[in-house]
Amino acid sequence: VKHHQIVIVGGGAAGITVAAQLLKRNRALDIAIIEPSDKHYYQPGWTLVGGGVAPIEKFIRDEKDVIPKGASWIQARVAKLDPDRNTVITEAGQAIEYEYLVLCPGIQIDWHLIKGLKEALGRGGVTSNYSKDYAPYTWETIQNFKGGNALFTYPATPIKCGGAPQKVMYMADDTFKRKSGVGVNTTVMFCTAGASMFAVPEYAAALDKVVARRGIVTKFKHNLKEIKADTQEAIFDVTTDNGTEEVSIHYDMIHVAPPMSAPDFIKQSPLAGAGGWVDVDQATLQHTRYANVFSLGDASSLPTSKTAAAARKEAPIVVQNLLSLIQSQPITAEYDGYTCCPLITGYNSTIMAEFAYGGKLAPSFPLDPTQERYSMYLAKAHVLPWLYWNRMLKGEGFEADIFKPINRLLRR
Ligand code: FAD
Repeated sequence: VKHHQIVIVGGGAAGITVAAQLLKRNRALDIAIIEPSDKHYYQPGWTLVGGGVAPIEKFIRDEKDVIPKGASWIQARVAKLDPDRNTVITEAGQAIEYEYLVLCPGIQIDWHLIKGLKEALGRGGVTSNYSKDYAPYTWETIQNFKGGNALFTYPATPIKCGGAPQKVMYMADDTFKRKSGVGVNTTVMFCTAGASMFAVPEYAAALDKVVARRGIVTKFKHNLKEIKADTQEAIFDVTTDNGTEEVSIHYDMIHVAPPMSAPDFIKQSPLAGAGGWVDVDQATLQHTRYANVFSLGDASSLPTSKTAAAARKEAPIVVQNLLSLIQSQPITAEYDGYTCCPLITGYNSTIMAEFAYGGKLAPSFPLDPTQERYSMYLAKAHVLPWLYWNRMLKGEGFEADIFKPINRLLRR
């Protein structure tokens, strides 16, 4: 049986950031990262790929190059968690023991829950930016679109980056109107299982204006359940006052945001709470029943929007509290629920939607955060990817080097 002081499950945005910060604080820690993939993806970039702004290669690095020096990489997939024995078991049956466990394996995409979707994806105008394999096909589809109905869906489950299903829609709408000229023969539709454009009312109001200005048709309480590729039909369960009815909408292209859930091995473990997510305290990120377990990122139960930006703010809380625990000190660091979803509303505009628990607005800049801005588009397309690779994954803060000087300038 292998043994490590700290085992991190998942070498994605959260796992690498936590490992890097821990080692910055204490080089002597014995940390293993269990991660099956030999590539690391900057998923927020997939929206830019789908919109034709950048090629997919720009957002892929070798996993070995992002594992911080001093951490061991175990290239394996965890299949089972046994917190009563402080052990995780890999798919290949290897047991790895820990003193402290950090769980951040991300969210699972449940493609199979939409009938016909898996078979339809990647041809006939059926696409999704939620996979690196199809994000390039999104741009191909948008570019070659000849007019008709362009549908963009949003599921009934929690998802990562709640804004991504509509960011791609605004880029598509821009392309149809400005470049390919098919706009006059096109109906762009946002079909969402939800009842509004966004979870936070202030940002929803701003997005209501964007869809109105663009003439985008909104279909609320429309939950996609099937794709019929041969007849190009999208089948929705629509919630009405009288119950649920089935509605079919013809599509000429459809961008699907699929249903998502906690990874199955988390759902099936004693560490899961309601809904299947890793059950942690929403302030300290410590597990509610197993004191030596922490979780952050998309797989955690934290009641905030699941983003890399949230993981960035969660990581120092996990690091501080874990180090306190190791030193038998009280656990005092608290996360406020900060998350950020840069809502691209067109090729030159973005609403930098930053908020915390309870939907409380939490802008990093002394500006009205509900406004569409070119500067925030530049931040999303150029500054944030750079900061991700060069600062966040290296265990460095952002604010000190970029936001604070900008803020000082803006305050003058
Ligand atoms: P991930 O980064 O997904 O990492 C999870 C890791 O765990 C992966 O490397 C995976 O291989 C590994 N893993 C999975 N299962 C196992 C297992 N059984 N054992 C071991 N390892 C396992 N965020 C933003 O902040 N801004 C945005 O604009 C934005 N846009 C997005 C657009 C799209 C299209 C997508 C898909 C995501 C977007 N996000 C955005 C969300 C962001 O990418 C995630 O919230 C973030 O990556 C979460 O980090 P994580 O470490 O929890 O999960």
